Amino acid sequence: MAGPKSLYDVIIIGGGVNGLAAGAYLQKAGLSTAIFERRDESGTFCSTEEVLQPGVKLNVHASLLMPHYGPAFVDLELERFGLELLAPPDSKYGYFYPFLDGNAVLFSRRSARETYEAWLRVSPKDAETFRKIANFFGPTVPLMAHQGYVTPHTDEGFLDFLATLGDVPVLPKDWLWMTGFQLVDALFESDQIKLAVLSYAGTSGLDVISSRLSGPLVVLNFLTIFSADGGYTARGGSHDLTHALVRCFVQHGGKIFYNCPVEKVIVESGEATGVVLDSRATYPNAEFKASKAVMSDVSAKPTFFKLIGEEHLPVSARVALKRFDYRGSSLFTNYYVMSERPQFACSRKFPEVNNTFVYNFGAETMADAERLVSSCMVRDVPLDPPIVWGAAFNYCIADRTQAPPGQYTVLTWANAPYELRSQGGPGKWDELRESYADKVEDVLVQYMPNLRSAKIARYVNTPHDYVRRNPHCGGNMHPSGSLTEAQMWSWKPFAGCNAPRTPIEKFYICQSGGAANYTNLGAGTLAANVVMADVKKDKPEWWRGVAFQGAAELLRREGVTQRFTVD
Ligand SMILES: Cc1cc2nc3c(=O)[nH]c(=O)nc-3n(C[C@H](O)[C@H](O)[C@H](O)COP(=O)(O)OP(=O)(O)OC[C@H]3O[C@@H](n4cnc5c(N)ncnc54)[C@H](O)[C@@H]3O)c2cc1C
Repeated sequence: MAGPKSLYDVIIIGGGVNGLAAGAYLQKAGLSTAIFERRDESGTFCSTEEVLQPGVKLNVHASLLMPHYGPAFVDLELERFGLELLAPPDSKYGYFYPFLDGNAVLFSRRSARETYEAWLRVSPKDAETFRKIANFFGPTVPLMAHQGYVTPHTDEGFLDFLATLGDVPVLPKDWLWMTGFQLVDALFESDQIKLAVLSYAGTSGLDVISSRLSGPLVVLNFLTIFSADGGYTARGGSHDLTHALVRCFVQHGGKIFYNCPVEKVIVESGEATGVVLDSRATYPNAEFKASKAVMSDVSAKPTFFKLIGEEHLPVSARVALKRFDYRGSSLFTNYYVMSERPQFACSRKFPEVNNTFVYNFGAETMADAERLVSSCMVRDVPLDPPIVWGAAFNYCIADRTQAPPGQYTVLTWANAPYELRSQGGPGKWDELRESYADKVEDVLVQYMPNLRSAKIARYVNTPHDYVRRNPHCGGNMHPSGSLTEAQMWSWKPFAGCNAPRTPIEKFYICQSGGAANYTNLGAGTLAANVVMADVKKDKPEWWRGVAFQGAAELLRREGVTQRFTVD
């Protein structure tokens, strides 16, 4: 039997959303590209599955989608390839944090002014602080998105970033070097506002308690996300983002090989020239060659230690990679199918919340939050008494196709460590699965009183399940590793790597990292940009590379002009 074509311009290892985005850009620009994926499906951490019961579509990993923040959404015409992003139809709010006293902190999904007005109901002083911060940083949000998703993260770029942030009158002088906890303490008087701001960064995976520089990222996080749109779901669920990328890649002529784990990158005279597949691949031990570039969508340690091999790396890189960290927070997830729409206790005072699909919940005091986050940092889960701090989503408010008629889904994330270092190791999660899920449920039901009465069924995923599914993530919710100061910017995954370039000629990383994380497709976009520059190919006209264009367009269709400033 004739085998497949074995020579391509570009080979990509891994068909996650970033490998697919890189591949779609390069294939569309005329470079013949092949993607080799270990599993039988693309988009490992961006999937929707009917694991609970047929017809109930659960977004088992990425769920709040943000491809429209980066340029790929427009450049790759993802809507033409079937992606339909949906927001809650009847709410101007993108996110809220409910409290047991019936209060809630709300964030607008379209305008800093509306967030300011919502905060006035909680603390006029903190609303005023928000106004000053938003007015100062608002105009720079698109520029910072561009620095995050479109331009490589260089040392010069880091200095530019610091200069852009600058000295803000309302912030303490040393705010740039503060942790998230320190900064919200310095800024706000209301613990409810502090928790609402901090928890979003915490559930996004940022180390908010011990990492310097996490303070400014907490601020930018809440400004960009919540003066913008708060994220979307896709009609049919998150996997429709993956499908749109696959369609785009394949319809432009790209080739995807499933069940094809790559065993090795072929390195000849310091240059990557191809890959060798694993002995269990569809084409066992087969060699495929790339004339222009090999790219990896696999996390740093397996990429450099396993696929490339230590012998090809400078000693400084080997040392840095040995120290590369995946620890910190992962997520423990309860999924529900309910017979009625979720109703919140705080909707008596804030009726809008029942129409808003993203909320964080749990910790009621800063001390609760500190105990939870500190516990995750030492890799144990606080069990006695339990503290839950997490996010939850009611996507059926926006997309009725994610459950059968008359049914609704709820998804909760609770921050939790993978390791359970002094509590029995990761395997212990199998034992804790239902009992810890009960604890999360006990907390959530206080905010959503109809949770138990309307519950039809529950499904649980533990941090250990995520590693089983996608081992290269190393226990972190982000395959890009811990989001700490030591693993950001130009020194990620190691100083001198010059990512997405690497010390190996023609070998690139398109795995998510730094600001270009999550489903904004920034990592794939950045890597594709750099490959085009290195092969000295002019970018076609459609490759415009403008961040936030898609975000503005989606809001425009709702008749809203996006506003990052209050005044
Ligand atoms: C529980 C959870 C919730 C999340 N929630 C959100 C969210 O709401 N919003 C958001 O934007 N982001 C979220 N994220 C993060 C988001 O899912 C990831 O940032 C993103 O999907 C990563 O995509 P990727 O392509 O970089 O990596 P991956 O999806 O990990 O893709 C890498 C691919 O490489 C393959 N692979 C590995 N080794 C090999 C090999 N040797 N050969 C061939 N293939 C290989 C893997 O099978 C995988 O398909 C969440 C993550 C988790 C775990």
